[in-house]
Amino acid sequence: MLLRIVVCQPVAHSAVEQLRAIGDVTVWPGPGPVPTPLLKSWLASADAVMTMLTERVDQELISQAPKLKIAANMAVGYDNFVVAEATAAGVLLTNTPDVLTETTAELAWGLMLALMRNIVGARQALLAGQWTHWSPDGFLGAELFGKTLGIVGLGRIGQAVARRAPPFGMRVIGLGTRGQFDCPRYDWEQFLAAADVISLHVPLNPETYGMVNQAWFQRMKPGSYLINTARGPVVDESALLEALDSGHLAGAALDVFATEPIGRDNPLATHPRVVATPHIGSATLETRTAMAERAAQNIVQALHGQRPNDLVNPEAWPGRVAEGV
Ligand code: NAP
Repeated sequence: MLLRIVVCQPVAHSAVEQLRAIGDVTVWPGPGPVPTPLLKSWLASADAVMTMLTERVDQELISQAPKLKIAANMAVGYDNFVVAEATAAGVLLTNTPDVLTETTAELAWGLMLALMRNIVGARQALLAGQWTHWSPDGFLGAELFGKTLGIVGLGRIGQAVARRAPPFGMRVIGLGTRGQFDCPRYDWEQFLAAADVISLHVPLNPETYGMVNQAWFQRMKPGSYLINTARGPVVDESALLEALDSGHLAGAALDVFATEPIGRDNPLATHPRVVATPHIGSATLETRTAMAERAAQNIVQALHGQRPNDLVNPEAWPGRVAEGV
């Protein structure tokens, strides 16, 4: 019987070819996410769907998809999946770890440099015709060298960020004991008091939702910086604005926001102490291709009756009892 696969946005040709080798593939051509009513109608006969972080996979969507075996996210974060509801319906869920680790770590460093060395502000001033002379106090930023970088979430991406710190002359500290990296580990208050820059790399889940809140900012070092390439809702944006407006925080670099996309009307987009980018952590051609291929591979495995490499809900795997997993 012909397998039907839905891909929710245009992705690398190589990934679509992987899927075409095993079934009939429908790709939403964009621009932007596939409209939900159309997605539901396609899912009525679909065996698999490749989702982006723009598609919420919950009971409501799954109830429209009686044949669905797998939803393969083209992202490592899968907070757009309601895991318990998909698991209850027997739908396998996968993500794309590893292939975006180095790229996202590069963006975190790019943001850190842009923010602390005032690269974006200086460029804007140049374009506005404000570079009229050299002066000792012109376009000043802060040196990275000698500073302490606090990493929240020492998993794949957090470690990749941490590995890049020694060449910049930065000391790394970690929050708590989770994740694998050989660096001093501090409890919450010690960590916030010690870090000059904090970079967030935790997944979004009920534990991390809003964890960077008013109390957090109050305990951060005066004049310190926040980098968020994780997920927007990890940060309480009102508390962040307060900390920026008061000057307690020297700046924030944000790739992710509470609701996305944001426009110029969002106070964080235009805030003079903020460098904002439109969720581009994994946005390189190499990585986006690798992510699409990895998501396609998960679909091929699932539809061939194999356990997908990147299964995030092993409880939904029918072979788990026989395999002892
Ligand atoms: P990962 O390997 O699972 O790392 C996450 C780490 O955070 C784990 O070590 C985890 O520990 C730790 N952690 C979880 N909750 C914590 C807490 N409350 N305090 C301290 N540590 C905590 O995931 P990853 O591949 O590095 O990706 C991290 C996140 O980055 C993704 O979930 C995604 O949301 C985001 N991301 C964003 C972009 C972008 O475009 N901006 C790109 C890629 C990824 P345990 O293992 O013990 O739970």
